[in-house]
Amino acid sequence: MPLSAYEYLTRIGRLVQAEERASAGGLPPVQLHALDYLVRCNRYSDKPAAVGDYLQVTKGTASQTLLALERRGLIEKRSDAADRRIVRLRVTSRGRSLLRRAMPPPLVVTALDGLPAEQRRRIMGALDSFLRELQRVNQGRSFGVCHTCRHFVREGNERFRCGLTSDALSVDESTRICREHESAGVSNRKGASQ
Ligand code: SF4
Repeated sequence: MPLSAYEYLTRIGRLVQAEERASAGGLPPVQLHALDYLVRCNRYSDKPAAVGDYLQVTKGTASQTLLALERRGLIEKRSDAADRRIVRLRVTSRGRSLLRRAMPPPLVVTALDGLPAEQRRRIMGALDSFLRELQRVNQGRSFGVCHTCRHFVREGNERFRCGLTSDALSVDESTRICREHESAGVSNRKGASQ
């Protein structure tokens, strides 16, 4: 009997997580994913609460995860330059070096490279659609890349602005993931806070 979609997803998830743990020297996947998030997120998204939202874990689990990463010297906390009460998280050079070794896991890269380009493209399209649908049903945050957000404004050649905050955005920021990202046509979210 063929596997159900759910069985495919759980089997793939288990394989990928085992490989992540091996390539990250035993670092638990939740810590690796928090690290990967922090190296790719923008300035609106580098706070502890955003990490919890991204990982879909409780405040306590997010706090323990960040503490473990800090103790390992993989992230550091910094006070916001404008408001010292705000804590921002930054991946250290040690954390970046670990991510370069571990993400994406070599097993996943090798398996994807073994597929024809057209099949890879179709898999990516299907996974993107499925993730969007899951987020829509769950009413969760999309954590998408900035330039795909409905608030993203192109003002000229390599000049961008966030329509939500009115801040100017650099080219680098336009490629980062954001806690406030909203896909076109989607504005209502469970637990949204500014
Ligand atoms: S345009 Fe959207 S994704 Fe980009 S910074 Fe603004 S809210 Fe975040």
